[in-house]
Amino acid sequence: MNKADSARLAGGLEGLCYAPAPTPEEADIVVVNSCVVRQSAEDRVVHRVNSLRELKTARPDALLALTGCIVDSDHDRLKRRFPHVDFFLEPANFEPLLRVAGERAPAASLAPASAPGPTAFVTVIEGCDNFCSYCIVPYRRGREQSRPVADIRAEVVELVKRGVKEVTLLGQNVDSYGHDLPDRPDLADLLRELDPIDGLRRIRFLTSHPKDMSQKLIDAVAYLDKVCEYVSLPVQSGDDDILRAMGRGYEVDHFRDLVRRIRKAVPSAAISTDIIVGFPGETDAQFRRTLQLVSEMEFDTVHVAAYSPRPGTAASRELRDNIPAQEKRQRLREVEALQRDISAKINARMLGTTAEVLVERRAKGKWEGRTRTNKLVFFDSEGEFTGELTRVRIENASPWYLQGEVVSGTAATES
Ligand code: SAH
Ligand code: SF4
Repeated sequence: MNKADSARLAGGLEGLCYAPAPTPEEADIVVVNSCVVRQSAEDRVVHRVNSLRELKTARPDALLALTGCIVDSDHDRLKRRFPHVDFFLEPANFEPLLRVAGERAPAASLAPASAPGPTAFVTVIEGCDNFCSYCIVPYRRGREQSRPVADIRAEVVELVKRGVKEVTLLGQNVDSYGHDLPDRPDLADLLRELDPIDGLRRIRFLTSHPKDMSQKLIDAVAYLDKVCEYVSLPVQSGDDDILRAMGRGYEVDHFRDLVRRIRKAVPSAAISTDIIVGFPGETDAQFRRTLQLVSEMEFDTVHVAAYSPRPGTAASRELRDNIPAQEKRQRLREVEALQRDISAKINARMLGTTAEVLVERRAKGKWEGRTRTNKLVFFDSEGEFTGELTRVRIENASPWYLQGEVVSGTAATES
C-alpha cells in the first residue's frame, strides 16, 4: 500500500512538472513514506529521517516531508521529534504538500513523466475497520472508505493505455470492498467490471481476510479469465484462543474450510499467509498448533513476524509482552525452516512445466517476472521482454524463485 501511495504522490508531482531526482541530495522535494507496523520498521524510518538532517542544513530550501503510518494527528509532537521536517502528511493525504509544490513548481519538466511499467497497484479501499488487537493500521489509516467502481475502472483503463498489463487491487481488508458505497458492489462485482478491459492481462487483489472472503469471490477467481490464481490470506495463528485474543473473528476450522473451498474451486491456486509468533501469552503448545497448521495447509509462501507491541493498540494496553525476544526469534526461525522445505517441495513440482510469465524488468543480467500464481521467475534471453507475457519452461527450482528458459522465443499471446 505504501508503494501505491508513493506512486500516486509521484504522479501528482509529475503533474506539476516535477521529475524524479537521482538522489535525495539533488532533490527539491524529499518525501519519506513510512511503515510502523512493527517497532523494527519504525526504528528504520526514524534513522532514515534523522539522517536527512544534514541535507536540510546544507539546503534549507529543499522541502522535507514525512508521510505514512508514523504520522498521526499530533503534528506538534512530530515537529518536536523531527524539527528539520517541513511537512507531516497523514497516510495517503498528500494535498498540503501538492499545494505548496504547485506554488513552487518548476516552469517546465526536465524529464518526461515516467512510465508506470507493466504492473501497477490500485488502492480500492482505504483504511481498516477491524482493529485486530495487535495492529496499529486502523489508528493511522482510519476507517474503511471504498472508491466507486467507475473511478477505479477509469484509473485501470488509463494505466492500461500507459502500458500496464497487470493491476493489483489493494485494501487492508480488500474483501470488504464496497460495503460503504451506495449500491453496495462487492469485490467480485468489481472484478467482473475490470475483467473485460482490453489490453489488461492480469488482475490480482490483496489482502483477503479469512472472516470476509466469500464463496462469491472464490467463484469469481475461478471463472474470470484475468483474475490470477493467487490469494493472500493471513491466518496469523493456528490456535483458537490466540486468534480470539487477536480479535481476528474466525477459528482455525473456519480457515481450514476456506482453504479447502478455494482449492476445490481453483485447484491451481497459490495461497500466501502471514503469521505472528510470540503474541502475549502464546504457550509452546499454542505455537505448535501454528506449526501444525503450516505443515497441514502447505502454503506457497508464509510471512512470519515476531509480535511487536504497538502504541494505542488493545494488546499493548491490556496484555503484557511476556514472550522473551530470543524465544520469539526461535519460533520465527522454526516456522521459516518448516516453510522453506514446503516451498521447496511445491516449487519442485513445477520442474519441466511451462509457465506464463509477465516480465517486469531486467536485473543483474536476467529477465525477471512472475507467474499467475505470483512465483518469481528468472530467465536469460536475447531480445526485449519487459511487459511481455512469455512462456517459460522451468528448469530450476528453489524455495524462493524459479529459473527457466523461454519456450522457442515466443511471447504468449493468450493469457
Ligand atoms: N491487513 C492485512 C495486513 C496488515 S499488516 C492483514 O489483515 O493481514 C501486515 C502484517 O503485519 C500482518 O499480517 C501481521 O502478520 C503483521 N503485523 C501487524 N501488526 C503486527 C505487530 N504488532 N507485531 C508483529 N506483526 C504484526
Ligand atoms: Fe490490521 Fe487486522 Fe486491519 Fe489487517 S485486518 S490492517 S491486521 S486491523
